[in-house]
Amino acid sequence: MVPVRTLPFLARQPVSKLHSLTPAKAEALAELGVHSVLDLLTYYPYRYHDRRRQARLADLRPGDEAWVEVEVRRARQVPAPRGRRGRGRAELLVVDASGSITVTFFNQPWRVKQLPVGSRPLLFGRLTTFNGRRQLVNPTVDQAGDPDRRVVALYRSSDKAGITSSDFDRWIAEALQRTGAVADPLPERWRRQLGLLTRGAALWAVHRPDDPSQQEPARRRLAFDELLRLQLELGMRRRATARDARGIRHRVDPDPGADLVGRFVDQLPFALTEAQRRAIDAIRGDLAAPLPMHRLLQGDVGSGKTVVALAALLTAVQGGYQGALMAPTEVLAEQHLLSMRSLLGDLQVPDPSTLEGSRPLVVRLLTSRIPAAERRATVAGLAATGGTPGRVDLVVGTQALLTDDVRFARLGLAVVDEQHRFGVEQRAALRDKGRAGGGADPDLLVMTATPIPRTAAMAVFGDLDLTELDQLPAGRAPITTVWARSDADEAAAWDRVRHEVEAGHRAYVVCPLVEGSERVEARSATEELARLQRDVLPALRLGLLHGQMRGPDKEVVMDDFRSGRVQVLVATTVVEVGVDVPEATVMVIEDADRFGIAQLHQLRGRVGRSHLPSWCYLLAELAGLDESPGSEAPGPDAGPGDRPRQAAASADARRRLQALEESADGFYLAEVDLEVRGEGSILGARQKGRSDLKLASLRRGDRPLVEAARQVADDLLDRHPDLAGDEVLAEEIRLFVGEEEAAYLLKS
Ligand code: ADP
Ligand code: MG
Repeated sequence: MVPVRTLPFLARQPVSKLHSLTPAKAEALAELGVHSVLDLLTYYPYRYHDRRRQARLADLRPGDEAWVEVEVRRARQVPAPRGRRGRGRAELLVVDASGSITVTFFNQPWRVKQLPVGSRPLLFGRLTTFNGRRQLVNPTVDQAGDPDRRVVALYRSSDKAGITSSDFDRWIAEALQRTGAVADPLPERWRRQLGLLTRGAALWAVHRPDDPSQQEPARRRLAFDELLRLQLELGMRRRATARDARGIRHRVDPDPGADLVGRFVDQLPFALTEAQRRAIDAIRGDLAAPLPMHRLLQGDVGSGKTVVALAALLTAVQGGYQGALMAPTEVLAEQHLLSMRSLLGDLQVPDPSTLEGSRPLVVRLLTSRIPAAERRATVAGLAATGGTPGRVDLVVGTQALLTDDVRFARLGLAVVDEQHRFGVEQRAALRDKGRAGGGADPDLLVMTATPIPRTAAMAVFGDLDLTELDQLPAGRAPITTVWARSDADEAAAWDRVRHEVEAGHRAYVVCPLVEGSERVEARSATEELARLQRDVLPALRLGLLHGQMRGPDKEVVMDDFRSGRVQVLVATTVVEVGVDVPEATVMVIEDADRFGIAQLHQLRGRVGRSHLPSWCYLLAELAGLDESPGSEAPGPDAGPGDRPRQAAASADARRRLQALEESADGFYLAEVDLEVRGEGSILGARQKGRSDLKLASLRRGDRPLVEAARQVADDLLDRHPDLAGDEVLAEEIRLFVGEEEAAYLLKS
């Protein structure tokens, strides 16, 4: 009987078992993170060469790829241009009966010796033109007259490890041969319905396609498997939570006298947007229901998420519960507290036990930075039952909220800002906070600071319900965004600052990111303030804000900025989130190319918060991208990793800055960000196990695949709760999500 191999089986086979691999190469592979046969089989190619075609030189058109059989007529070495790194290049003139062509080997001057005048190699490459000359750049060379005429997969090679693409090709071929039949855990009827290849066929086709048309079906099947594993994991998580849940039915419709949320909304200086109303309704529905809420609230910068979060928290409070808001950093927690305090005003909590029938709402901060005495009081206030003086209603903090000595008397709802840094363990810890002392599971609302594209949100946060705030408050004037590339552009930015301040408005200047500690960053911001005051804006009143300042000092500066005593706030990225000064109309971001899209969008969101027109200047001079093949450009055999790093970085920066110039839509920018940075940026810490999304894309294109995976996962879990009786899949999940989490999910 032919054995059928499962992925876990392949994961247990070390690559050293392959005959085609020497022990030295096995060690080199280990450095690339390739240990098992499974690692090798999932080391996917980044591109293919169709090496089946041979052509006459005269018949090649630009972009064509083919073998050509030629004779070398001239060969010379050209050293690298002065001041440039690299080994120089070989330049050949080759001919066949139909014509002639230039061949350039960048960084391979030795090709002149390998291919002397008169030699007759076969070359495979893509025809390009440069300065009107037809040429092949870094073609594949075959001198034996026996070229590999097939569709060849190209693998990312590693100079450092001394492993070439054709090494991978050889090893993977052996691995496929010897593996034989591969188990397919996808039920046949789903496979047919979705039009997917079998897993075994897909593995063959992705590495050794007979024809380029097989590549996409192969990718689709293997990508589907990645997404299915993810959805199974999320689905089991969802089910485990629901199964174990001891939820709270919150009071969402209290008597008019006890309606804290109503009072809160009434005292706001604005009316809620439709989107905010819808979000609050959805949340109220969840809160009233017996199962704990697990909801993701997405909204663009400035869409008013804080108000929604507060309405939810106050719903808990009006029923006698406590609420917690957790932020990823101390600075963000402090900012949240500030903006919550200003929205809450002097809101009173209905309390029949007092003479007035009400008492002030108690909101506290809990981070590792607050003084010990204050911390003790807050911790005591959290553990105090209702009616006790000093009892805390709402607490804002960092992960410090999850430490053991923090006990809640009656935690009803936790709001978590920026889920990407929040995993299963934290969620469990939070649940236990609620259960301690015989309580129930708190509801959970997750907010993202900037939107995540929908497909990605579905794939990664599939265990949460999704609500989007897809509307900004009315009356916002647009923000004009300018990428200031030249000295003249920069001068115009500072002119705008002067002009706006003269009109009574305010400006932010965000200092360059500095590598190193927060201290280093603070010092450089201090220096930048001095420079701006001396050389650039001597007539204006400047203030400084950075993360190293003490809380009270920060508040003084922010108050001064709000009132106008400080006209220009020079700051590090601490202004990124939460800072809210409607009179601010100019944002200048220095060295903007060093920031990511989401961060720039978030920073820009500090202006344009009123009816006043606003401006955002992104200061960044980027070195020109030299795209001429005359420079040391890589050839077709070089992996993308070989692109000169600086040029790649500046191309990405250019893309980011242009995107910001052209759009203020956070959902659109999130898609661009995903394209520029790849999936890792979103998966981040959320996926604890190995990063399993190698072929699946969270971009729009794979959305149907994400949806299909979700559907299949639900079907499988309905039939086999916890994948009981489906050992192949269960084992696979264990393999990919990590033992610990799998144990939790699979209840084994
Ligand atoms: P974000 O979603 O970026 O966290 P915030 O919650 O900080 O947005 O809100 C941005 C600004 O808009 C704040 O000044 C807030 O007070 C204000 N705001 C919120 N909702 C509304 C509304 N419905 N109408 C007018 N302004 C609003
Ligand atoms: Mg906010």
